[in-house]
Amino acid sequence: MRYAVGIDLGGTFVKFALVSESGDILFDDKLSIGGKALRDDILDTVSKAIGKVIQKAEEKNINVIGIGFGSPGIVDGGIVHGGADNLNGWENINLANLYSSQFGLPVFVDNDANVMGLGEAVYGAAKGCTDAIFLTVGTGIGGAIIMNGQLYGGYKNRGTEMGHVTIDHKGIQCNCGGRGCLEAYASTNALIGQYALRSGKNESEINGHYIVKKFQDGEEAAVECMQDHADYLGHAIAGFINTFSPQKVIIGGGISESGQFYIDMIKKSAFSYVMPDCSRFTDVVGATLGNSAGCMGAASLVFRNCN
Ligand SMILES: [Zn+2]
Repeated sequence: MRYAVGIDLGGTFVKFALVSESGDILFDDKLSIGGKALRDDILDTVSKAIGKVIQKAEEKNINVIGIGFGSPGIVDGGIVHGGADNLNGWENINLANLYSSQFGLPVFVDNDANVMGLGEAVYGAAKGCTDAIFLTVGTGIGGAIIMNGQLYGGYKNRGTEMGHVTIDHKGIQCNCGGRGCLEAYASTNALIGQYALRSGKNESEINGHYIVKKFQDGEEAAVECMQDHADYLGHAIAGFINTFSPQKVIIGGGISESGQFYIDMIKKSAFSYVMPDCSRFTDVVGATLGNSAGCMGAASLVFRNCN
């Protein structure tokens, strides 16, 4: 059995795990990253995280073959080029060189959402599938495309920004500089904003779980907002299905864990807009790996790329 270090860097935590090729997590933990952490602090924290996993592996007499790393931003050739708005100075860093020279192991890096999608494709909701679309619904909307069993990232891995397809061409301004993007309508943040407007409540008192609870209670504002939320996602997913004809569309992110009803609403919406021939072999499902998807996907980068 082969083993790898899986690193999942987010805006507030670095999660890390010792993962076996068959998908068992032998050890995992996380370290927090202060909101004002600078580039070198973040690099140090990641270094500590890798060190902890390697130490744990040594205690278990396990030989680690490499380090997999999911990082926010545009990542290509082991380098994070930029685009990670939540991390200060997180650009133009050769993460692969840095950590491989520090730990003497091969290091493989990809974008965090790509890595999560890969984790779900290899070990989770799309296990055994060759073609899948992954969407993570949170503060923003990220995603990944698995095509012919491989991550697809476009030329120089700069694509698959699934949250930034247009669903309203005259729509509201998006953080990306575009207009009418899926993320601006269907992220958890967008849902909270819409619910605050319709209910008259203060945004600071609301989160995704609160709205889901009110939806289940049948509160009118929550029902309307959740139906719109599912409909926005359904429109975009229908487009993804018509384009890629995946076997699975996987919905992840905190709100996707609300229950099967949440996935069913989105699925119903998506299937009301798709072309039947494109969607014949497609199902829309919830993610199954939860918070472990990133570390498991990162480790699977190692297993795929090491001989
Ligand atoms: Zn956008």
